[in-house]
Amino acid sequence: MLDLLLPQRCVVCGSGGSQLCGGCRDELPRLEPPLCGRCGAPTAWPVERCRECAGRRLAFATARAAVGYDEAARRLVHAWKERGLRRLSAEAAQLVAERLPPPEVDALAFVPSDRGRRLERGHNPAERLALELAAAWEIPCLPLLERTRGGRQRGSSAAERRAVRGAFRATGRAPRRVAVIDDVYTTGATAAASASALRKAGARRVEAVAFARALRRG
Ligand SMILES: [Zn+2]
Ligand SMILES: [Zn+2]
Repeated sequence: MLDLLLPQRCVVCGSGGSQLCGGCRDELPRLEPPLCGRCGAPTAWPVERCRECAGRRLAFATARAAVGYDEAARRLVHAWKERGLRRLSAEAAQLVAERLPPPEVDALAFVPSDRGRRLERGHNPAERLALELAAAWEIPCLPLLERTRGGRQRGSSAAERRAVRGAFRATGRAPRRVAVIDDVYTTGATAAASASALRKAGARRVEAVAFARALRRG
């Protein structure tokens, strides 16, 4: 509703016409191979594990994202999440569906937002993205996860890991293969905690899919 009343301005560059102009859309940095086979980090050549994920226990089999989380992607995600520009969910899903083949899974799940955030925003961006992708990929989207407590903490890897450890549980028995959807993959801790909860509930293989992925330097 709000979307219709607001003047259409690109949330990245401010130019008029649409919420994401063609130029800014084209310039979002698509994540292209070679990538780490496990965590999806861009690498110099294809590897099974990279410096970012080596030695970490990750409950997901692979993590993939459509674009790098650069300044433009950050602005887009911010507007999408905080200003409730829901149409951007469709844009984000389209970018994901263009970049990634449909995962070979029985269902999509999404990272649940904590209650406070959900009330504040009135929507969960990860859930909206999952619903859009479910339609594009023709895979059912199921509310397989819930929060046991607490908010999300992003920033340092250690802070995120502490905040999400044990933060999710499955709402019931999970299908055999699941892809868990989130808006941004930051350190992988949230994806790993979600995947871990799904595997405890019976999933044998969990893939993580995000719209954007933080990129480490060096
Ligand atoms: Zn623009
Ligand atoms: Zn990796």
